[in-house]
Amino acid sequence: MADPTAVPTPPAPAPKPAAAKPVAPALREFGEIPALQPGSMAGSKPYVANEKIQEAIGFPGALVEDWHDRAIGKMGELLGKYRSLQVFMDACVHCGACTDKCHYFLGSGDPKNMPVARQELMRSVYRRHFTLAGKLFPKLVGAQDLTRELLDDWFNYYHQCSECRRCSVFCPYGIDTAEITMAGREILDSIGYGQKYGNEIIGKVHRIGNNLGLPGPALEDTLLGLEEDVKEDTGADVKYPLDVQGAEVLLVTPSADFFAEPHVESLIGYGKVFHAAGISWTLSSKASEAGNFGMFIGNYEQLRKIALRIREAALELGVKRIVVGECGHAWRVAYSFWNTLVGIGAGGKDPFAIELQRQLDPRYKQPMHICELTWDLIQQGRLKFDKEKNDHRIITFHDSCNVARASRMGDAPGGQFEIPRAIIRAVANHYVEMAPGTTHEKTFCCGGGGGLLTDELMDLRIKGALPRMEALRQVVDQQGVNFMATICAICKAQFSKVLPYYGHKMQLVGGVHQLVSTAIRLD
Ligand code: SF4
Ligand code: SF4
Repeated sequence: MADPTAVPTPPAPAPKPAAAKPVAPALREFGEIPALQPGSMAGSKPYVANEKIQEAIGFPGALVEDWHDRAIGKMGELLGKYRSLQVFMDACVHCGACTDKCHYFLGSGDPKNMPVARQELMRSVYRRHFTLAGKLFPKLVGAQDLTRELLDDWFNYYHQCSECRRCSVFCPYGIDTAEITMAGREILDSIGYGQKYGNEIIGKVHRIGNNLGLPGPALEDTLLGLEEDVKEDTGADVKYPLDVQGAEVLLVTPSADFFAEPHVESLIGYGKVFHAAGISWTLSSKASEAGNFGMFIGNYEQLRKIALRIREAALELGVKRIVVGECGHAWRVAYSFWNTLVGIGAGGKDPFAIELQRQLDPRYKQPMHICELTWDLIQQGRLKFDKEKNDHRIITFHDSCNVARASRMGDAPGGQFEIPRAIIRAVANHYVEMAPGTTHEKTFCCGGGGGLLTDELMDLRIKGALPRMEALRQVVDQQGVNFMATICAICKAQFSKVLPYYGHKMQLVGGVHQLVSTAIRLD
């Protein structure tokens, strides 16, 4: 007979299940709201940065002992520094207009991915520590202290926001969750709880000059290889110059353009545009990265330090114009911040900024987007195309978040929407739009923006791509679309990876200058 007082032997631990391969959610009709799945994304988080990565860019190496007080202190500092953050904390009336506007909510059903809930992670702590009602009657006003559990929620859910700003378009008060996410990430970094992917990349830019860690000689090799390929392909001596003193244009482009498909096809296109228009240009080994992850972590010092490399390169090379390649957040940083950060455009007041403003040619916009440059040349009749060379393509255009909702192009409102489309129509015969409500200022994020383009977040990235995939599927099925053009390196990389999960070939995505490259005449 068994001894009833005996302590049962614990069962042998079950073998660890292999990590499940992420699966794409089923496509729905566009506009359908998902059923709520509370907690479904609670385990989704990026890797935490290690000591080496953190300390290399000036953050504590690991979670500091007095993290609570330092986090609240940092929050107070940010509230004082950024008036917008204070307004966003106070202004929400919980009207619900933003709840179903985030692609991560639409793809996952996790209510914590509703923008208002994401804001509430910080707002509840704000109430507790920075409002009288929250200090006196915390429960009554939904205030809570920053516990370790809540801090982990900050880490997880502020890395389930791509800072795309779509929700702010629908908020009657213009509350921008992206800025709250940036503040959340800045607080996390300041207490030693940073994200590996983004912070490692920032370290690489400081050390080597670009996000990919591509050193100067490798860059030179790649560009020489491109010249040979284009010569073989077209017979023309198109140059891809590096560090040319006295060139007219410095082109700053995302480092993915130097080697990854389909990005490199656009770089080939930029070179052909300069060649056909007879404009001297150069790339720079010092400024070999247009991207600036300092913005994604909401850190002004990093944002400026990364941008300063471009100023140094421009001054050293003596260029007259600075042009930015196809990269969404890079264009946002260039368009919105370069002027006051480093003096590219009017604004910076330190001696180097003033020197650069004197050096740059005032007849041109500084900085200029490569699409603005190409479109200006098309309008001046300086580029000629054989449009039929793109006849095998039925093209649609994906507006990238940071271009659509955080910048402009040209002189008229909406230029950031119209100019890329005008270029496509100038170089190709078959163009169709995706459903209204999914384009222009209401465009959906690709699902990998804002520093989330990392493999450990694949499940999130696939789910976040769902709304765009639903709109894409419609034009593929109904109008035969076989090419989705975009002007963002992150969109290109993200779609190349997630398109196969939704039954498409990765080659379905490409750049606007890839289309230009196909059709441009070089004689
Ligand atoms: S900014 Fe974009 S990703 Fe972040 S909550 Fe709003 S819609 Fe979602
Ligand atoms: S739309 Fe604006 S005011 Fe309404 S719940 Fe969302 S953030 Fe709050």
